[in-house]
Amino acid sequence: MRYLILSDIHGNVEALDAVRHHARRKRRDRVLFLGDAVGYGGGPNQVVDWLRSLGPELLAVRGNHDRVCSGLDEATYFNRYARQAAEWTLETLGPRNLEYLRSLSEGPLEVSPELAICHGSPVDEDAYIFSGYEAALGFKALPHRVMFFGHTHVPSAFVLRESDGRRMIQVRLLSGRRLALDLEPGCRYLVNPGSVGQPRDRDPRAAYAIYDDASSRLYLYRVPYRLQAARRRILQAGLPPVLADRLGFGA
Ligand code: ZN
Repeated sequence: MRYLILSDIHGNVEALDAVRHHARRKRRDRVLFLGDAVGYGGGPNQVVDWLRSLGPELLAVRGNHDRVCSGLDEATYFNRYARQAAEWTLETLGPRNLEYLRSLSEGPLEVSPELAICHGSPVDEDAYIFSGYEAALGFKALPHRVMFFGHTHVPSAFVLRESDGRRMIQVRLLSGRRLALDLEPGCRYLVNPGSVGQPRDRDPRAAYAIYDDASSRLYLYRVPYRLQAARRRILQAGLPPVLADRLGFGA
């Protein structure tokens, strides 16, 4: 199976369009979405319309912003910009899109006996995986060899290696326009493909991945998009200008 993997689109329809265009000739059997379709960006309905249009081709988990922006939860832990965006998104989403976001499953979600997806961590959809320790908790929570997660918006891979009864976790930041990674047999992986709509690794380009489980090969891509149009859409919606500006910094 070949999987197209997207995470953290955050209502950035311009970034999503660029990724869709870039991936249009790449073979895929399934689309995996790791949560946060909305929140921050000015095009939440367009993003959710597209996810809904995928039908059974899509396997998805919700993110914390999907939960809050669809009114399932309070914005207690959000900063004021995220809260303002969540309120606007809740008012702006059409009834079908709202219902769809509310129906997304919490995760983790098993894709195959070898593969699982989640938003934050296999432990908790709201937990972040930045460190080897946090990755170790994730590896402990599920048996799958390969797990994809989002939430940090930083493309990264945590590799769990066992030799002579000793366990070691290596961290790798995944940067660059195009990167191919061969997953080694005997190792386990927690991989973040990066964020489509709000990258935070100082590279403003949209990020996505393709994973081929037959060859155990993972491809990561960075794609430029119409950033000024995405910025304008945020400003025209009356959302905080800081949400428009951060796109340009990839932060
Ligand atoms: Zn997010």
